[in-house]
Amino acid sequence: MSGRLVVVGGDAAGMSAASQARRMDRDLEIVAFERSGYGSYSACGEPYYVAGIVDSIERLVARTPERFAHMGIDLRTRHEVEAIDLDRRLVRVADLEGGSRFEMPWDQLMVSTGAHPLRPASIAGIDLPGVLALRTLEDAVTLRAMTEHEAERVVVVGAGYIGLEMAEALAGRGAHVTIVTLGPHVLEKTLDPEMGRIVDDAVRDAGVELLTDTTVDRIVGDVKATGVAAGDALVPADLVFLGLGTAPDVALAEAAGIPLGVTGAIAVDDRQRTRVEGVWSAGDCAETVHRVNGQAVNIHLGTIANKTGRIAGTNIGGGDARFPGVLGTAIVKVFDLEVACTGLNTAQSAASGFDPVVGIAKGRAGASYWPDAAGMVVSVIADRVTGRVLGGQVVGGEGTGKRIDALATAIWKEATLDDLAWADLAYAPPFTGVWDLINIASRNAADP
Ligand SMILES: Cc1cc2nc3c(=O)[nH]c(=O)nc-3n(C[C@H](O)[C@H](O)[C@H](O)COP(=O)(O)OP(=O)(O)OC[C@H]3O[C@@H](n4cnc5c(N)ncnc54)[C@H](O)[C@@H]3O)c2cc1C
Repeated sequence: MSGRLVVVGGDAAGMSAASQARRMDRDLEIVAFERSGYGSYSACGEPYYVAGIVDSIERLVARTPERFAHMGIDLRTRHEVEAIDLDRRLVRVADLEGGSRFEMPWDQLMVSTGAHPLRPASIAGIDLPGVLALRTLEDAVTLRAMTEHEAERVVVVGAGYIGLEMAEALAGRGAHVTIVTLGPHVLEKTLDPEMGRIVDDAVRDAGVELLTDTTVDRIVGDVKATGVAAGDALVPADLVFLGLGTAPDVALAEAAGIPLGVTGAIAVDDRQRTRVEGVWSAGDCAETVHRVNGQAVNIHLGTIANKTGRIAGTNIGGGDARFPGVLGTAIVKVFDLEVACTGLNTAQSAASGFDPVVGIAKGRAGASYWPDAAGMVVSVIADRVTGRVLGGQVVGGEGTGKRIDALATAIWKEATLDDLAWADLAYAPPFTGVWDLINIASRNAADP
């Protein structure tokens, strides 16, 4: 249908959509507005830039505006969309460098504004200088600069995967790191307690102080943060990092009247269409469907953002693509451990109306006689009644985490415990035993 596509938010979902729409329709005019100084960047690489593993911030940019220009896509960084007018079908844009404001009409609109780190106003002192979170590449540059000069003592508030990655990055830079989390163990929203406690031990073994079941009451300091008051403790800090999770960035869409769904993210169908004709959404700001329980979810992962963006782009460009949903499969490195999960955990399974049964297998990623094989634990969660596998978790040493993909693929195809107990998985002494731990965990779940 051609005309003009305007993209709001020029990162994973937005630029995937733009690129795919371009492949589908050579005549479409595409303009993307991005508030930060970089488009098409890898937020996932930011902790590794702070750690110094990635040397320059530019290496985290997948495609520059110049490369997009070669594709016939006009990506304008440092441009903020301030309002969407659905009646007049235009956006109002502020050029943050030039200082001008202008309107741009669209025939199709892609809302890909992502998610922002939570910064609860209920915690006094949260807006003090020295209380930082991570979203854009500029945030990563600020954090790395602080670690080079002034951050000897760091408190990480929250123990989700971004908090843990940053704890490792900052500890690696020589800071004394304390993690304070309300949860009974780290990664409490994704991991079952038994698996989470293994990660707790690894964090403590790495020299990080970990305060679980602890509420942050306030952040103390006059002109900048100097500590965190948590329970009875006052933990001194030169830097407070907020890893409290993220929320979909929907203020712009909501103000325009684009309907939200039950999760608070933008409601879309499986073609990434919002409920407004010609308006699309994908990535962290949009809902999707969980394949195991069929419920609407809003999970903030780069995998989902890239895929949903591509689906939107295909449909914007005149094709017909449908997004099949998600399992929330994720993996994170936490010091010496690889930690991965897919599907529902035990609590989520029960809350979804299943009768969960869990099988756990502990062993090594190698035959019993193989020297230095990494230890690992696999858990498989299934429905007691039907045997359907609902979720799985893997915690282990180097090279173990991507085993989660076998579990994810099985769950994707609605495998049962019996399928997984007998699945023909690869074996040789340097990698596993003749019975892979996935086989054993599934057998244990079937016969608890
Ligand atoms: C530190 C960190 C580590 C991560 N690690 C992983 C990982 O290992 N694996 C994984 O799968 N996922 C990871 N993620 C999540 C992943 O980065 C996100 O899911 C993904 O970036 C979402 O893409 P998006 O395009 O939907 O949103 P975003 O990446 O948030 O992009 C949205 C963009 O929209 C811009 N924007 C917002 N409002 C406006 C406006 N009004 N005008 C103009 N521009 C606007 C923002 O500046 C932003 O650049 C990580 C995220 C972070 C922050």
